[in-house]
Amino acid sequence: MGAPMHDAGLEADLFTVEAAALSAARSMYADDAASGAQQRRMLGELINHYERLMRETRRLIRRSDRAERDMHLLNRELQTLAGQLEYRATHDPLTGALNRGALIERAQRCLTQGDMALIVLDIDLFKQVNDDFGHPAGDSVIQAVVGCLKQVLGSDTAIGRVGGEEFSVVWPTASREDAAAIGQQICNAVGAHQHCSPISRSVTVSVGVSWNRAGSAFEAAYNHADQALYQAKRDGRNCVRLWLEA
Ligand code: GH3
Ligand code: MG
Ligand code: MG
Repeated sequence: MGAPMHDAGLEADLFTVEAAALSAARSMYADDAASGAQQRRMLGELINHYERLMRETRRLIRRSDRAERDMHLLNRELQTLAGQLEYRATHDPLTGALNRGALIERAQRCLTQGDMALIVLDIDLFKQVNDDFGHPAGDSVIQAVVGCLKQVLGSDTAIGRVGGEEFSVVWPTASREDAAAIGQQICNAVGAHQHCSPISRSVTVSVGVSWNRAGSAFEAAYNHADQALYQAKRDGRNCVRLWLEA
């Protein structure tokens, strides 16, 4: 019973003056003996109170409109910030590719939905690129590789930078031939890319592809693609090797 008492008290506080004027007007209304002059004075008082109430109501409505607008703006800013936070938590700042955690999540989800190729690639002799042209130029090569991947695969494909100069791609496909072909397209596109100055030669990647049936574990898919990648390195780099599930 505490709350209603509190509310009634608050109402009385807010409208004490108006409540007193209303009560006086009611008494006069009920009083047949009240003179015309008394009634007229009372009406004047009521008009004053009514006008004050209208002014206050308008002021409160304006204030509540302003508060609502501010709240909308804050809400929109909050949504933008939440989006930025989500982006930073899932993307690599240098290339805009997915980071390792986000790529793994996408691959795991994809494996629950159907057959999938997991492609891993590593830039060939990248230490030499850094040594010859400098670290910032090396960074621009990393960005260019992601650019090539997006060009070949489309920007909706899950492309991740999973290490310094190692990348992974989730490629849903029920076709082993398609898995092999896409790996080769990546290898060709990176090798053919013309880099900006000071990089005066082409840069290649070695590519490992595992083709996995729906329901496979991500760890197995990654290990198999990694084994294929190291086979590509052993076979002289700038080539694609496949691991196909039986
Ligand atoms: P391999 O063909 O066997 O892969 O030879 P590699 O020289 O590429 O050897 P490795 O993959 O072991 O070397 C990776 C080098 O990449 C070492 C490191 O200095 C460089 N690196 C890693 N992250 C970055 C980065 O963010 N920017 C630049 N510029 N270099 C990086
Ligand atoms: Mg490496
Ligand atoms: Mg390398």
